[in-house]
Amino acid sequence: MSRKPPQLSFSPAALRRALTAWFAKNARDLPWRRTRDPYAIFVSELMLQQTQVVTVLPYYERWLARFPDFFSLADAHESDVLAVWQGLGYYSRARNLHRAARHIVAHHDGEMPSDPALIRALPGVGRYTAGAVASFAFDLPEPLVDANVARVLSRLMALATPIDTTAGQHALWTAAKSLVPKTGARIFNSALMELGALVCTPRSPRCGECPIRTHCHAYKNGNAETFPHKKPRRKTVALAEHCAWIVSKGRILLEQQSGPRWRGLWKLPQLPSAPPAEPFLTLDYPFTHHRVTLSIYKQPAPSPPRENEAWHPLSKLAEVPLAAPHLRAIRKLAGK
Ligand code: SF4
Repeated sequence: MSRKPPQLSFSPAALRRALTAWFAKNARDLPWRRTRDPYAIFVSELMLQQTQVVTVLPYYERWLARFPDFFSLADAHESDVLAVWQGLGYYSRARNLHRAARHIVAHHDGEMPSDPALIRALPGVGRYTAGAVASFAFDLPEPLVDANVARVLSRLMALATPIDTTAGQHALWTAAKSLVPKTGARIFNSALMELGALVCTPRSPRCGECPIRTHCHAYKNGNAETFPHKKPRRKTVALAEHCAWIVSKGRILLEQQSGPRWRGLWKLPQLPSAPPAEPFLTLDYPFTHHRVTLSIYKQPAPSPPRENEAWHPLSKLAEVPLAAPHLRAIRKLAGK
């Protein structure tokens, strides 16, 4: 049985005109909007995947100063790449950027391909990022749907289907595809995202100022804030993590991770269970649908350290790619 997505019941041309006119007056001046360099745009997109604009800004500038093109990134050692990324979290994005650079140097002479299918084939590139790079760097009429766009479109259509289902995603991408213009996709996609970021916000959308409100079904129904619909959330599960604080002669013992979570990063050495002592420090952090309580205990130095452990000078921790919650704990305890 074929699935029929909800249809947009207005003129795309009128909506595009209203939206792009609004964008011309209201767009934020962001550095990745001032460039058409596919490398810089690609870097910004990977950084912005799970991180807010204001956090990304200094990292973006620093990254481009250190790795100005695919060649310099492809040549870098992974530990340098992770160290420059340190603090942004979700390190798999840095690894993907690095692998993508090596792939582009090896297969595309160091130039980002403009074919959306080839962009999509790069590590770390999903449908959204492929659409973003193709439209922002090459002005190709490729649709994109990120969280902001999903919210705007779900409200425009008053989409009853949860957006985190296959049917919901299908409806959103179909709508985005029908809206993106043949020319001017770069501006149009940017405008749609900007509207979601500045006006069609998750809470208290400013519908009174919205340039496309006359096209919006949720606005007409007076229930904008009830969209987007999502599947019921999974319950949060509590987890406990016990780690050792082993510092000697200005050095700290750290353990390098080899599993899928935090692979290649360093953290405080794992303890098999909680020692019979009060923790030196505890802190909580989220991990998928878990809430992890990290408890840290002062421990004597092992002799010798385990194979995946090594001593690092406390004064040089900025050069060590550390798992974000452990970096936070070390900064609190060592005052770094
Ligand atoms: Fe979003 Fe309101 Fe604009 Fe509709 S009218 S797109 S709900 S801001």
